[in-house]
Amino acid sequence: MRPVKFSGGIFINKFAQVILKTANSEIDRIFDYEIPFEFLDSILPGMRVIVPFGAKNSYTEGYVMSLSEKTDVPKEKLKLIASVPDKYAIFSKEMIELSMWMKEKYYTTLTQCLQTMIPAGIDQKSETKVIKLNISGDRLEAEKEKLRSSKNKAAQLLVVDFIEKFGPSEAYEIRKYLKISSSPIKTLLKNGVLKEETKQKRRSLFESEISEHSERVDLTSEQKSALNMAVSKSKTPLLIHGVTGSGKTEIYMRAIENFVSKGYEAIVLVPEISLTPQLSKRFFQRFGNAVAMTHSRMSDGERLDVWQRAKNKEISVMIGPRSAVFAPFENIGLIIIDEEHETSYKSETTPKYDAREIAEFRCKNRGKVIYGTATPSIETYTRAVNGEIDLAKLVQRPLNRMMPKVEIADMRYELASGNTSIFSRALYNGIKMNIEKKLQTVLFINRRGFSTFISCRKCGYVMTCGSCSVSYTYHINENILKCHYCGKTENPPNICPQCGSKYIKYFGTGTQKVEEEIKKFFPSARVLRMDTDTTKKKNSHKAILESFGCGNADILVGTQMIAKGHDFPNVTLVGIVAADTSLNNGDFRSGETTFQLITQVSGRAGRGDIPGNVIIQTYNPNNYVIQLAAKGDYENFYKKEAIIRKSMNYPPFFNIFAVLAFGKNEEDVIREINALFYIMKQNDLENKFMLFNPAPAFVSKIKDEFRWRLLIKGKCENELKEFVLRAIDEHKKKCSRKVIINIFLNPQSIV
Ligand code: ADP
Ligand code: ZN
Ligand code: ZN
Repeated sequence: MRPVKFSGGIFINKFAQVILKTANSEIDRIFDYEIPFEFLDSILPGMRVIVPFGAKNSYTEGYVMSLSEKTDVPKEKLKLIASVPDKYAIFSKEMIELSMWMKEKYYTTLTQCLQTMIPAGIDQKSETKVIKLNISGDRLEAEKEKLRSSKNKAAQLLVVDFIEKFGPSEAYEIRKYLKISSSPIKTLLKNGVLKEETKQKRRSLFESEISEHSERVDLTSEQKSALNMAVSKSKTPLLIHGVTGSGKTEIYMRAIENFVSKGYEAIVLVPEISLTPQLSKRFFQRFGNAVAMTHSRMSDGERLDVWQRAKNKEISVMIGPRSAVFAPFENIGLIIIDEEHETSYKSETTPKYDAREIAEFRCKNRGKVIYGTATPSIETYTRAVNGEIDLAKLVQRPLNRMMPKVEIADMRYELASGNTSIFSRALYNGIKMNIEKKLQTVLFINRRGFSTFISCRKCGYVMTCGSCSVSYTYHINENILKCHYCGKTENPPNICPQCGSKYIKYFGTGTQKVEEEIKKFFPSARVLRMDTDTTKKKNSHKAILESFGCGNADILVGTQMIAKGHDFPNVTLVGIVAADTSLNNGDFRSGETTFQLITQVSGRAGRGDIPGNVIIQTYNPNNYVIQLAAKGDYENFYKKEAIIRKSMNYPPFFNIFAVLAFGKNEEDVIREINALFYIMKQNDLENKFMLFNPAPAFVSKIKDEFRWRLLIKGKCENELKEFVLRAIDEHKKKCSRKVIINIFLNPQSIV
């Protein structure tokens, strides 16, 4: 028995505080259970347990949050833990603390926080039983011959053939493939023709190209001073604000080397999209088997394996998107958050956590958080300006490589002088010259598909998805209209469904249209397109990039997917086909998003030895966002943006809560959101909060559900949270179940 020593004597933990794994928020409480004698020795906080629960004592899974020697629960009410399935604790003490903090911070249940930290399928068995041949050679032949004579043994023969052909297999696979019952397999096992064997499930994870080693570069003086700050003893988070291509990744790798050599572990968060083959390759080359990565295209099983390898201390560096921040390391020295400004770091589903905040919680007093980006989020830069976090700047690219030369193409002027194509003359000439010189071009357009909307020139009718309040996008390859919200498709109309006119016009530009226009103007050019439509298959993403990287195409057309992380030395021209798409979307972050996109996309130009050119096509050439992004002047952009945010009471100077109500019946939705609004008005006695009238959401209907929203602003996050949660709680008691209420604190985009 594991005694716990106190000054007064020896105590034994006989009770466990258990949180149940259930979706029911009513029972998101901790329950005391008695520990059976056999587990007194081995049970630990963070372990999974099976316990009887409720009047029916149904077996329910839960986690031990803590152990105690006493309990307030009367003896007759106390139940005994039924079993402890694993030999190890799934959650460390640190993770348990983190879950409790998350519960408050992200207004959710403890169970949900715990579930979020671990990969799906953790309770899957890591072992599996496979069936293989038990005999071979002549004996097997003889056995098969016997099966062929007898009448009713065709199924058995099929099974033997199957295993001969495909090797050891799981019983369910054999049954599924041959469409047979389990009895032929059982008979063969009984007769000793087949045998069963237990096998560890292990999925292949390694990239093959680990072997080659990267050469070590000499750091520039800017890189050196940033690295010194990164590895210093100070536990204050560090923002590395470095222009694109300034060598931030190189600094990350040196910092990791430093921490790992001292016995610490490191996590690198990257936005999903920048998980390019190139980035992973650089890390594998530097750290070999000490590094593992996760990404969204991995199966649950593959992710579980990576998690287990971290838990078993088989690796010391984990690279991955948002969820990798929960890597089960126990001695974290460093968490790096690359492309810090990326919206994907904030979860949009419950718990709506922010990986940056989780990173800082995990590193508090024990590790260092490093943010890196060419375009810091207004939130993070404000913290640097206020001195809450440290700041290192890199204003140059190494090896005297120049920043690209940026030119703004005024599309109003192009139109006025008779150019109706989607390419300005500057971009057209640039592409032409690049093709001649055998250099590569990247064209960025923020929309997939061909045309972004289809409308009647006579009456103005716009083809709209009946289930969502958004216009259809035309996809030329399939000759079909697609809704990008629900995926619904329709045939393009020959005549206007409203007035019958045949003047249907396709407006707006998407990736497919850019591709078509290139084929029209430059028939000899080889084009690759990268967007969600061309990257549906596993690894297609990688294949496109590799193909472009090898020079198999002259032009790469793509959406945000091509905006960052890639390093193609032969790309000397970048065209931003329609910079205004994200500028006028009505979001308070639209300026920030546009600045980031232009900077990131521009950063793809001139990463090799030949200087790069960028052409930004816009109808708003004088807009400060376009102007400053073209100049690469982040500081002045920040100053302007901060003034606007302050005066309009937007984050980070104010907190915003968006409450979204949705349901099939619009009247219900309106009634409920108004009822909630009324409660809030009543509760806000001191007029502390800014309440905005309920209004239809930005997209007011998705998949046949009507959406209304309510905005509340407040200075203090906790006060605002308390106020909103209380009103929702009050409202819940009488709310119609047909309307669902969802809340977002400081959402990444308007709801
Ligand atoms: P960032 O992450 O800031 O975009 P990278 O770390 O990818 O920049 O660096 C851009 C390119 O410059 C890479 O090919 C990298 O290998 C190279 N590089 C980085 N630092 C140096 C250096 N000090 N000397 C020479 N090349 C460097
Ligand atoms: Zn019409
Ligand atoms: Zn739709």
